[in-house]
Amino acid sequence: MNIHEYQAKAVLREFGVPVPRGIAAFSVDEAVKAAEQMGGPVWVVKAQIHAGGRGKAGGVKVVKSIDDVRKESTRILGSTLVTHQTGPKGKQVNRLYIEEGSAIDKEFYLSMLIDRESSRVAIVVSTEGGMNIEEVAHDTPEKILTITVDPATGIMPHHVRSVSRALNLDAELGKQMGSLLPKLYKAFVDKDMSLLEINPLVVTRDRKLICLDAKVGFDGNALYRHPDIVELRDESEEDEKEIEASKFDLNYISLDGSIGCMVNGAGLAMATMDIIKLYGMAPANFLDVGGGATKEKVTAAFKIITADPNVKGILINIFGGIMKCDVIAEGVVAAVKEVGLKVPLVVRLEGTNVELGKEIIRDSGLNVVSADDLDDAAQKVVAAVKKAA
Ligand code: GDP
Ligand code: MN
Repeated sequence: MNIHEYQAKAVLREFGVPVPRGIAAFSVDEAVKAAEQMGGPVWVVKAQIHAGGRGKAGGVKVVKSIDDVRKESTRILGSTLVTHQTGPKGKQVNRLYIEEGSAIDKEFYLSMLIDRESSRVAIVVSTEGGMNIEEVAHDTPEKILTITVDPATGIMPHHVRSVSRALNLDAELGKQMGSLLPKLYKAFVDKDMSLLEINPLVVTRDRKLICLDAKVGFDGNALYRHPDIVELRDESEEDEKEIEASKFDLNYISLDGSIGCMVNGAGLAMATMDIIKLYGMAPANFLDVGGGATKEKVTAAFKIITADPNVKGILINIFGGIMKCDVIAEGVVAAVKEVGLKVPLVVRLEGTNVELGKEIIRDSGLNVVSADDLDDAAQKVVAAVKKAA
């Protein structure tokens, strides 16, 4: 689960992490009031969306008068920002963050994330902070340092020294890093974060190390022990289809391709997506309906898939074990009766109650292409979509 920058900064503030003062605003009037309350002479008007790259897209503006706070807030609030992280459709800005402006001397990059290979929290730092970290990682990876932290010891003085050396900090700033790094690490671990990205971490002209931006994501599996974090959820920032799927406890992830997939078992779902790619198209989603899915669950899943305008064809691939083929068939038939079927549907059923499942589909009169195995199914759905186009 992701949260907004202003919420992330509030969480970090609880841990004593230095962040600029700021007030969230949901209207232009609130933004102006916030700016007046904080006092000048410099403010930053920041679009709050769950995506980075706002600066380059015009969503972060440093201003020097209340008039300009009003002007920029009016321009940004309600507008749609297209950044390199939003996708081409962009994201509408419904919240602003008004922050006191900082005089920046240097911009660094610092993030923490879970490194699955070492099973540790990794700290990633670079002198090349600001707005182009993706380019730095691509063009000059040697400018990025990654270290990992042993969970038994937590942050040790040698971590602070490594980071300070990588950022060329002098003794005074190194001391500030010695205070900052354990606080960030404690916030990361205590709140079960999956990502904590400070870009930029800045040195101000009066030589203070502060976190000017904060992007935080949390491990969804740990949210049950953080009701305070769950409160921060902004569903308007999340994929509608994924919210709907979570209501039915479906493992669904929305993707960019055009073949809707309904599969049982995560491994088979991954293999299905791979084989669609192999035959030249891309999956519109990952969906594992699970072992114990009911007809209602299958119906809900099928409706979510068909409601996606990107879906040009659907592939149902079920290897019935605990999941019975007839349950899948009944769910699909019920969903089609309700919402119709406008795209080609290829079904591959195998395993428990397969004959019964096939019979249900045959008797329903649905226009279904049946397939014998995974390979056959993927080829058939790709061919059908190409033919329909
Ligand atoms: P992002 O583009 O979505 O990552 O948004 P950021 O919060 O990182 O802001 C983008 C850029 O705006 C930063 O890299 C800074 O260069 C600049 N910026 C943000 N806040 C301030 C500030 O208080 N003072 C100044 N001078 N620049 C700022
Ligand atoms: Mn940033």
